[in-house]
Amino acid sequence: MSRPASHSNNHHLHDLSDSALFVNEGVPQPPVVNPGAASFYKKKQTSLYTADQYVEGIRSQNLSMLSQAITLVESTRPDHRQVARSVLEACLPLSGNSIRVGITGVPGAGKSTFIEAFGSYLTRAGRRLAVLAIDPSSERSKGSILGDKTRMETLSADPNAFIRPSPSAGSLGGVARKTRESVILCEAAGYDVIFIETVGVGQSEIAVHSMTDFFLLLMLSGAGDELQGIKRGIMEMADLIVINKADGSNVEKAILAQALYQNALHLFPPSESGWRPTVLTSSAIEHKGLDVILQKINDYFSLTRSNGYMQHKRRQQARYWMLETINETLRNRLFGNPQMEALLNEYEQKVLLGTLDSYSAASALIQHFDQL
Ligand code: GDP
Repeated sequence: MSRPASHSNNHHLHDLSDSALFVNEGVPQPPVVNPGAASFYKKKQTSLYTADQYVEGIRSQNLSMLSQAITLVESTRPDHRQVARSVLEACLPLSGNSIRVGITGVPGAGKSTFIEAFGSYLTRAGRRLAVLAIDPSSERSKGSILGDKTRMETLSADPNAFIRPSPSAGSLGGVARKTRESVILCEAAGYDVIFIETVGVGQSEIAVHSMTDFFLLLMLSGAGDELQGIKRGIMEMADLIVINKADGSNVEKAILAQALYQNALHLFPPSESGWRPTVLTSSAIEHKGLDVILQKINDYFSLTRSNGYMQHKRRQQARYWMLETINETLRNRLFGNPQMEALLNEYEQKVLLGTLDSYSAASALIQHFDQL
């Protein structure tokens, strides 16, 4: 079924909306309290700045303009997309000069606390840090695992840090594209370290890996079977594993876990970059281990800059994003076309009734699309 969400929604609305068994599928839309407000905000939305104004604002490190430009690249409205493209084109030559670090780990591993501690450590050392996120939960449930950035209180108030929650609407590909474009804007605004946070539970870390130079996996010490719990693919992507919460009575366990994971890493084939991933420990709460982590990251960048791997990886990523952009543009063009929408419904019904097979339906629809 291609539209299970709306079917189940209708079902709930008809049968259960008054019942205590009603299950909310996401954050409910608030009722319109002030009908005038909608048109006010709509009007405000369309009165965009020009692309030049956005670019000027970003270059002069105007935070409000940077935020609004990110909102613009997150928008799917065609008029917004058009301005966003011009802004991105102008920002692209100003970008690329940062260290892009992906940070992943299961919920509770301490990502927010770690980013708060490590981020503050970096800004104290004179770096300008942007923290972005790709949060798959915000697409599915409109709820967000990473959303509560108020937890990063120190960084939020830090003039050298910029924190932006995950874009929420659309497919993972769409969300990832928006985050990648935000990276470009942040770099043009002079941020020289970019963190992209994600939850290590699904596909999103592959998206993060596709737009970062360095991948940090935050883990917890504990039961040995954790090793099986974390997907081999994620461990293989890691340039550095940090066992967090190495404090108090947990220090010994953390050191044991460090040895365990270090052994596990030896089983992986050597990486193309010539870098040997290692395992460190930290306490985000007690700000311990941060200096050694920074040293490792610096070592990685010295190595991959001097052996050409960093440039190679970024070019590979650029190619990947070219293909992804084509995918997303074509998808949006087809699914966003009003004529196609009617046909899509029609063919969906045929497939659901079993009167037409999926391949014939798809090829008939694409043929219609080609003829538009
Ligand atoms: P996230 O879900 O990965 O972002 O994890 P959080 O940063 O929200 O942390 C989850 C919980 O672990 C919170 O209660 C933190 O206070 C705690 N925590 C995070 N880092 C540490 C640490 O280094 N040591 C200890 N003891 N607790 C920590």
